[in-house]
Amino acid sequence: MRTLDDLIKHGVQGRRVLVRSDLNVPLKDGKVTDDGRIRASLPVLTKLLDHGARVIVTAHLGRPKGAPDPQYSLRPVADRLAQLLGRPVEFALDTVGESARLLANELKDGELLLLENVRFNAGETSKDEGERAEFARCLALLTGGEDEGGAYVDDAFGAVHRKHASVYDIATLLPHYCGDLVRDEVRVLEQLVGEPARPYVVVLGGSKVSDKLAVIDNLLPKVDRLLVGGGMCFTFLAAQGHEVGDSLLETDQVENCRRLLAEAGDKIVLPTDIVVSAEFSADAATQTVAADAIPAGQKGLDIGPRSVEAFAAALADAQTVFWNGPMGVFELAPFAAGTKGVAEAVTAAPGLSVVGGGDSAAAVRALGLDVTAFGHISTGGGASLEYLEGKELPGVAVLEQV
Ligand code: ADP
Ligand code: MG
Repeated sequence: MRTLDDLIKHGVQGRRVLVRSDLNVPLKDGKVTDDGRIRASLPVLTKLLDHGARVIVTAHLGRPKGAPDPQYSLRPVADRLAQLLGRPVEFALDTVGESARLLANELKDGELLLLENVRFNAGETSKDEGERAEFARCLALLTGGEDEGGAYVDDAFGAVHRKHASVYDIATLLPHYCGDLVRDEVRVLEQLVGEPARPYVVVLGGSKVSDKLAVIDNLLPKVDRLLVGGGMCFTFLAAQGHEVGDSLLETDQVENCRRLLAEAGDKIVLPTDIVVSAEFSADAATQTVAADAIPAGQKGLDIGPRSVEAFAAALADAQTVFWNGPMGVFELAPFAAGTKGVAEAVTAAPGLSVVGGGDSAAAVRALGLDVTAFGHISTGGGASLEYLEGKELPGVAVLEQV
């Protein structure tokens, strides 16, 4: 796989380089509320600009339906990017239209242009290969094409599991290079599925078992312990025959959970106490109950303190940790302690600690935890999960083809 450093070695001065970044950040009232992914994109952009490249950045935000939609404009991201880069950011009002073409042509060495949300064009995510290829061709043309020195760098780890025009097809049209973020993410994930140092402990939470079943299936044979919290633990508790009140329950997954429990022996550790409430609100009255005695009418919204202790003990000697999915509804203060406590135990583990999942990474930042205490915080929720499921990532596979 050719890397960004290979491209830099060839020289990028005066060349237009199209970079696919992952700038898919949460917005509220037109402001970026968590800029983690923008920050993670800076090293590659800075490196290219410092070497005199004319950088064209393409990225998506949310899920617009293949047409311009002001709600999903990247404009607020352009402003934040400019602040963090400490350099001006030109912003195109379209993806490959007149504004994009004009600004791309006018770029000077060391200048950066951000294109409008790439998903404003239906070609980006189309299942029709011809339509995708046509859009990719328009994107490639913004660089002038290979003959004029155009090149493509994929640094959008969060999108490499998508066979989209700006992630996949474009790499077949331009000399292509792997960005540092994609390279680092893949290196870390390789360790989690390859020969991880033991004990290897995986902590899973979040909302649904069904989202993570394939990961559990693939990782279970490799791990020493699997700790399960979050909304998904109730389907496991139900599989053990317990009542779970009004907690999140996927009845169609109970059988799968029963099978996993049978296969896992005592590898799977479930919570023993649960913080419950009748309502899903920040000022709700709460109580902590035994996990096998959740009262009718109550929802389990966090794991309890005894469970946090048990999970921490199971993490204390871990040489490899992968954590995905909050332990509770951390967005509401009364249900944040489980996630905070387990996150602290993850950072205290002696070995490599990796956090995957968009909400888990957001929780780390929102709860004021020290981000540098983790070995690696993945920027790609879906991408890291698909990798851990054992699937090929199209955006990485295409970079490997020369
Ligand atoms: P990630 O993005 O890290 O993979 P998920 O998307 O799977 O995580 O899940 C995150 C969501 O799960 C959070 O919004 C959190 O509120 C929710 N969640 C965690 N525990 C519970 C619970 N007990 N009941 C309902 N929702 C929960
Ligand atoms: Mg999520």
